[in-house]
Amino acid sequence: MGPRVQETHQQGALRKGLPPSPELGDNDLDPLCIIKTIGTGGILSLSPFSAFPLPILGVSLRPGNWRRNEPSDRPCESGPGRLCLHNLFENDIRKSWLVRCHQDFKFKRKNAKNIDLAPMRILAIETSCDDTGAAVLLNGRKILSNVVSSQVSVHQKYGGVVPELASRKHIEMIVPIVNEALERARVTFKQIDGIAVTQGPGLVGSLLIGLSFAKSLAFAARVPFVGVNHIEAHLSAAFLEEKPPKFPFIGLVVSGGHTSVFRVDGFGTFKRVGQTRDDAAGEAFDKVAKLLGLGYPGGPIIDELSMEGNPKAIRFPRASLGKDSFDFSFSGVKTAVVHFVRAHSEPPGGITEEMIRDIVSSFQEAVVDVLVKKTFRAAQHEGLKRVVISGGVAANRLLRQRMGEEALRQRMRVYIPSPIFCTDNAAMVGVVGYEYLKKGVRSPLSLNAFSNLPLR
Ligand code: ADP
Ligand code: MG
Repeated sequence: MGPRVQETHQQGALRKGLPPSPELGDNDLDPLCIIKTIGTGGILSLSPFSAFPLPILGVSLRPGNWRRNEPSDRPCESGPGRLCLHNLFENDIRKSWLVRCHQDFKFKRKNAKNIDLAPMRILAIETSCDDTGAAVLLNGRKILSNVVSSQVSVHQKYGGVVPELASRKHIEMIVPIVNEALERARVTFKQIDGIAVTQGPGLVGSLLIGLSFAKSLAFAARVPFVGVNHIEAHLSAAFLEEKPPKFPFIGLVVSGGHTSVFRVDGFGTFKRVGQTRDDAAGEAFDKVAKLLGLGYPGGPIIDELSMEGNPKAIRFPRASLGKDSFDFSFSGVKTAVVHFVRAHSEPPGGITEEMIRDIVSSFQEAVVDVLVKKTFRAAQHEGLKRVVISGGVAANRLLRQRMGEEALRQRMRVYIPSPIFCTDNAAMVGVVGYEYLKKGVRSPLSLNAFSNLPLR
């Protein structure tokens, strides 16, 4: 194979519609590939982060006879490091070669004598709200570590997340949490091949801590990094399970900040079918729990208390918003709970503990009812047989049970991640980051965080 037309990195990035690599300057030549040395002795690791899948057929990768074209301060021959190679194919056509390649790298095996597939390790960071998360994933699926530090104790006394306190806590926790993730994964920082980080949506102060930290790490280690949409991360959490879904599917993201239904045709290919017009479902759980003085966050508490309540005790409203709408509204049911509590608070009876159990159970029933109905209706409308749910509220036992029952009734399949992957975590960010990094997508070091970040 002959050399490709040499263009500058900027021109190459423009032509491929990709962001320029933070590793390369404007006038650097566009690399044919990025090769990472993993020691001496001629075994090399070919990183899949090149901007396009590179056929490496017939290339000699013996050290010493290649041409390299890169600043001399980049580590290369000894120890892990990166090299940008140009015109590699011009003179180095050999029949036998030894290549170490990441598993997902597309290449032709013809003539290959010895191919050793190396796994790709991604460090993922999540700080969109009040959980500091870091994870290390192997080939975007196998979790080597997944560490989450919850800030519940910080925000509990306020009955909700206080953004300023959340940012401060992220600053405190980010280094120990990332270190712990690396330690638990038994990898050193030098063994990380790429970094994925939540870019938004979320609390901008919180997002900026994770994003700035990830950018600094990527810059220091000279590894690529990519910003990930938090909603897409939730939609992809099901890929962490043993039986991941196949595309296309209907995805419901239901958490403290979001309640939306998407048609998902692939990583990066979505169509929003419906969303909440007011409160998110998790927000309604949290507000109802606060109103009843049950504590924070309300979702898990109501989930627990509802087990002993009567879900049919009170008929709370279910907002339909028209039979063709897949939108949600939870402010009505929340207000109905407020009215009910007010109407029954007066002595002599007042609100008893038994009444509280019935209220939360009936409230949960109303919310779950709507979530299940609308999600399956959206699946029918889109002609899809697979439903994926995620986000903090997807940890809810009744919702999980009802989704399963409805799927059976409608002969569909439902995929619900384990509760730890439903609530905010970095592993789900790693799934998405891996998919983008292996396609050659990289974010520039100028990447900013956004509290509102629409899905691409
Ligand atoms: P975010 O909304 O920031 O993305 P999460 O995805 O972690 O955060 O979701 C948190 C929300 O999920 C909270 O509103 C919480 O009350 C809700 N939640 C967590 N567990 C449950 C549960 N078992 N039942 C209902 N809601 C839950
Ligand atoms: Mg979330």
